[in-house]
Amino acid sequence: MRTPMIAGNWKLHKTLAESSALVRELMPAVAANQVVEIVVAPVFTALDKVAEAIAGSNIKLAAQNCYSQPQGAFTGEVSPPLLKDVGCQYVIIGHSERRQLFGESDELINSKAHALAKTGLGSILCIGETLDEREADQMFDVLRRQVRLGLKNLSAEQMAGVVIAYEPVWAIGTGKTASDAQAQEAHAFIRALLTELYDKPTANATRILYGGSVKPDNVDNLMSQPDVDGALVGGASLKAEDFARIVNFQTTT
Ligand code: PEP
Repeated sequence: MRTPMIAGNWKLHKTLAESSALVRELMPAVAANQVVEIVVAPVFTALDKVAEAIAGSNIKLAAQNCYSQPQGAFTGEVSPPLLKDVGCQYVIIGHSERRQLFGESDELINSKAHALAKTGLGSILCIGETLDEREADQMFDVLRRQVRLGLKNLSAEQMAGVVIAYEPVWAIGTGKTASDAQAQEAHAFIRALLTELYDKPTANATRILYGGSVKPDNVDNLMSQPDVDGALVGGASLKAEDFARIVNFQTTT
């Protein structure tokens, strides 16, 4: 009942020409896919160009970050209304690189989630534990805190626009993927938490993506886990052939 989502996070990669070329190579390779919601998140400067290229296709546009205020004296920031204006339907918030390299707090991330809900844009809220936290048996506490604070005061109705991405920090860009069982365990925990914070229908309707070194050769097994509803893909989204194979995953169950 949950539409799978495969989202590509291009991070700080690709010029205008390269972004356009990547998406033009991707489009025919995924055009026949009617079952997956396909999303790409280029750098801010390439959003307009990519929006133009994917117009009328089955690929949607996301930004990698936003600020919480619509406008004002916030030098260097980009707001949800401006991202909507350029054609975005989703914004990734709380990515571990933003938390770790730019000191983003759960409170700031929550203010972005509210701003996106107010603007009518979807959020892809990233959460995930570090290796130290996992080894210290703090994984569930960390996930609980990030979910509770990240979604604070968002209504069940607003949750319809929220996608959660579980991305264990130790698996991002490292080539180390969580095992299928580790991913399922975390996703089931997050879904149970959503039942506790909201209700069962909301928890059952919310998509939970896995992120962390998803590749063509591991996507099928990950997507076969009952609570894995899609993937947020970094490195492998930069190659059209690899990303298309991930979009066109085959479940094994
Ligand atoms: C990411 O950046 O969200 C990510 C999961 O990266 P990678 O697929 O490269 O691990």
